[in-house]
Amino acid sequence: LGDGNEPVCECNTCYTGPNCSEFIPHCTANADGGDPLFLEPFWMQHSTSSALVVSGWHRMSYNYNDNTWISSQLESLIRKLHAFVSNAVTRNRYIVFGAGSTQILNAAAYALSLENTSSQSPTRVIASVPYYSLYKNQVEYFDSEKFEFEGDDHTWRNTSANVIEFVTSPNNPDGQLNKAIVDGPNVKTIYDRAYYWPHFTPIPAPADEDFMVFTLSKLTGHAGSRFGWAIIKDETVFNRMIIHIQLNSLGVSKDTQLRAFKLLKAVLEEGTEIFDFGYRTMKMRWDRLVTTLSLSNRFSLQKFNPQYCIFYCKIRDFSPAYAWVKCEREEDNDCHAVLKAANIIGRQGNVFGSKDRYVRLSLVRSQDDFDILIQRLQKLVSEEVGSQ
Ligand code: PMP
Repeated sequence: LGDGNEPVCECNTCYTGPNCSEFIPHCTANADGGDPLFLEPFWMQHSTSSALVVSGWHRMSYNYNDNTWISSQLESLIRKLHAFVSNAVTRNRYIVFGAGSTQILNAAAYALSLENTSSQSPTRVIASVPYYSLYKNQVEYFDSEKFEFEGDDHTWRNTSANVIEFVTSPNNPDGQLNKAIVDGPNVKTIYDRAYYWPHFTPIPAPADEDFMVFTLSKLTGHAGSRFGWAIIKDETVFNRMIIHIQLNSLGVSKDTQLRAFKLLKAVLEEGTEIFDFGYRTMKMRWDRLVTTLSLSNRFSLQKFNPQYCIFYCKIRDFSPAYAWVKCEREEDNDCHAVLKAANIIGRQGNVFGSKDRYVRLSLVRSQDDFDILIQRLQKLVSEEVGSQ
């Protein structure tokens, strides 16, 4: 409550006033970060089943009663969820938790690079362009002599060198179901499955890789809870993950695990509802974007071929989290600047190891953010069509 006992709302950047109902005409459409607020309305409809009250005395210990920092109840719920969605094999696999998949991805690189202790040369870290920038940023920032980031280097495609390949599937930024490209006896692959949920993609088969990473952020939308998990085939790699996360943070917050448990329980109790909602919302957004840009020769979007989805038992379209926009005109080699001039903020292609002729637009933000994005794009396209 504010001074005058009036509710104080946190308005979207394009709205103002006590009820956030006054539109700011020349505001900027924010299509930059991947904050998954498109799921907020789902949780508003399920506020009772997802609510949590935690007493002051509850879960004060570092560990659970079995002396681990991984809740066995949450772990078995995660296995149930994957079985329900058919998006990952968890049988005879280990599961480790992290503070978001961000912590898991970093721990994974360490856990997998340690396997090659006999070699003097650093492990090459590879990701095919366009790639999610965190892989590169973590390797470069933590600056360990164990790794070197090579990006998308074709010379490493068939190699005896120590290589870690990050495969993002569906990919951030372009939503494609990527597969590993590097082959060799000392190649380890980390499959980042953050978006492998029916909200964003058909599920052609359960993912069955040696090392798979998932996150609550893009499943329920609770990015702020910082919860992710890895599904791991090899016990030694699992043990290294445990040691790494123990040294790094002594495990994952018990409050977060409780929140994740409550949310996933609500998800499972509602059957297919969150996936229906997620798909419907993302598909509607994608269709609106495709329609908006369909009149344009200046901007193009990534293309998808529909695939059979074993979750819905039918052929389904993709409904990606991001648009990977290409500026087609010769002179528009800085697509980010082109959109910025039209009051749209996206993310530059070079952040993903790609050309600046590309820009990523986030489609997972709030409905207001998306509506404003479409308005700005409509204006841009109508100016282009009007000038032809
Ligand atoms: N992997 C991919 C491909 C992502 O897009 C993101 C978030 N944008 C992450 C991992 C990290 O997510 P979090 O740490 O919230 O789990």
